[in-house]
Order: sequence, then C-alpha cells, then structure tokens
Amino acid sequence: MKKKILILLMIMLFFSSCNKNTDKTKDNIQKSNNTEQITDENNSNKIKDNTENSDQKSDDQNLDNKDISNKKEDKLLKIDLSKKPNEMGRIMVFMYHGIGEEGPYTRSPEKLREDLEILYEKGYHPISLRDYVNGNIITPIGKTPYVLTFDDTNDNNFKYLEDGSLDPDCAVAILLEFAEKHKDIKPYASFFGNGQVPFRQEGTEEKKIDFLLNNYMDIANHTVNHPDLTPMNKEEITYEVGAQGKYLQSLVKKEGYKIDMLALPFGSRPESEEATEALRKGTYEGYSYENFAILNVGWDPYYSPYHVDFDPLSIHRVTGSEIDVDGVGIRDWIKYLDDNPSERFISDGEPDIVTVPIEYAENLKDIQNKEILKY
Ligand SMILES: [Zn+2]
Repeated sequence: MKKKILILLMIMLFFSSCNKNTDKTKDNIQKSNNTEQITDENNSNKIKDNTENSDQKSDDQNLDNKDISNKKEDKLLKIDLSKKPNEMGRIMVFMYHGIGEEGPYTRSPEKLREDLEILYEKGYHPISLRDYVNGNIITPIGKTPYVLTFDDTNDNNFKYLEDGSLDPDCAVAILLEFAEKHKDIKPYASFFGNGQVPFRQEGTEEKKIDFLLNNYMDIANHTVNHPDLTPMNKEEITYEVGAQGKYLQSLVKKEGYKIDMLALPFGSRPESEEATEALRKGTYEGYSYENFAILNVGWDPYYSPYHVDFDPLSIHRVTGSEIDVDGVGIRDWIKYLDDNPSERFISDGEPDIVTVPIEYAENLKDIQNKEILKY
C-alpha cells in the first residue's frame, strides 16, 4: 500500500514538474519574443516605451506603460510564428487583358476560373492594388496576398447581355462567382480603361463603374489613345493621362473616389524626367491628377510594400497567360513560388504589424506607424 502511494506521489510530482517546465519554456519564448520586439521596434513611440520601461521613472508612469505595453504584447503575441509569416516576400500583381478565346492577351473564362482556384488552393488571397501599395495587408495569417489587374476595359471584362443580366463568362462575373464560392474571398480587382466608354457598351458606363466601386473593384487610368509613351514630351503625357483621368472621373458617382492609379500602355515610359513626372502628377484643362501607383508590363512578382526597393511608381506585373510568356507567365511563377516558398510573402494577419524573419530584415524600409516584429 505504502509503495503504491509513494509511486502515485512520484507520478504526481513528475507531472507537476513537467507542467512547470512547459510553462517556463513558454515564458522564455514569450520573453525572448518580447525582447526582440522591443529591440527591433524602430518608430519613435516604441523607442519611447522602451526607454520608459527600462528607466522605470515613477510608479504612475510605470502603470501607464504597463497598460500600453501589455496591449502591444497581446497583439504581438497573437501572431502565430509557426505559420512562418514573412512580410518581406514577393507579391504577384497579375496582368490580364481580354477574356475569351485563349491567346497571348486573352485568357479563356475556364482558364481564369482555374487560375483563381489554383491560387486559392495554394493559400493565395486577393487584395486591392490600393491596399498593396499602402502596405495595408489585410490577408489572413499564413496566406499570401496577390493583386488582379485587367487592362483595356474590353467588353468581355464587364458585359451585360441583352436581357440585362451579367454575362457569366465576363471577368467581373467570374470574380463574383469566385467570391460567392469562397466566403473568405472578396472580388478585389482593378480595371484600367483607355479611350471612351469603359467596357464598350454605350450608356452603361456610369452604372458599371458604380457597380465596380461598390463591389471591392477599382476603375483606373490607361491613357486616352493607348500610345507608345517613350518619345512623348511633358505636354503629350499630360494630355494622355490628364484627359483620360478627367473623363473617367466624370463617370464616377461614388463620393471621394479618385482616379489615381495608372497602367502604362505596353509598359512604355517617356525618356525625359519631366515627362516621366507628368505620369504621376499634372493638370489638364483644370483637372488635376496625382497617381500613387504606376504599373509596368511583366515580368516578375514584385517587392513587398515594406521592402526598401519597393517603388509604387514602377510596379512589375506577372502576365495572366501561358502563351508566348517565355517561361514567366502566371503558372510559371506559381510553380516557382511553390519551389521557393521562402521568397513568398506570408501574411501575419495583422495589418498594423510587419513580421519578418531576421534573415530578411536588412531590406526593411523605414516604416512609420507600424510595429515591427523580427523573429
Ligand atoms: Zn493596354
């Protein structure tokens, strides 16, 4: 009997010490995380907290600081590092044109649906171009953001049939169908319009734009004449960008919405600095524009918005095609990132925190108003 009790006691002791050890290990991990978080914090608020914590000036201050730092710690500790967040990885901005018979500049409806499903299965979630450029990564933890863009506003991007219903094979319908099927997806996409009548069905312009802007989608600038911009001077660029911006803006009914993103026709850029600046900013016939994002054509996934080399005025895209893509089309890059997962952006699920493995942290740009978590 005594022996049995002794064994029981020993077992109890063993388990309680195990628990203690686990707790201790947890504590240590948390502690070491916290130390790193504090060390790595680089905005002024954080530096302030850090100094205040270590100085421990007065009891009152300490209480206040504890409150603030507890809240911060709570948020930082919420990040599940086992999901291997890497917010310095690459992000794919896809460039589609027409939707129809499969070709170099046309994706078939079936292929577009397949692209979206493949991306979803592999843990990619769409975000808006606006959020990407602003570094507002709302993608859930462990998932990779991507951006959808469609150039030329062809009718097959957004088409009403004669009975007024949406053509189920146009891009907008396919995106809505995709978001309907996957409740954790919103149909984020940007459409870049050149010339008159975006989506080419006269009389529907305002209705279509209104629909886009109320359903997570954007309308943006692709110039008046879709010219090669290379030889153009400042006045010519101001016309191409300004007149198109003015026209598209006149079709926008949503309050506060601005035409402020530009996709370059053929990815061409003017040679002079003055003309280049006119891509970004200018005034045409009393209408002032300022583009915060300018998109190139091709050919690779682009930098994280937190990377020091990220340039919002020269964003690379990946072409949404498999024909004549020289091994750098949409499926090639999906495969590449499958094979090289460390190059892929993995979200920490917290838009206000930038989480980066230490080995990639040297390329972090100076970020204001966000917590930095290196691990
Ligand atoms: Zn185009």
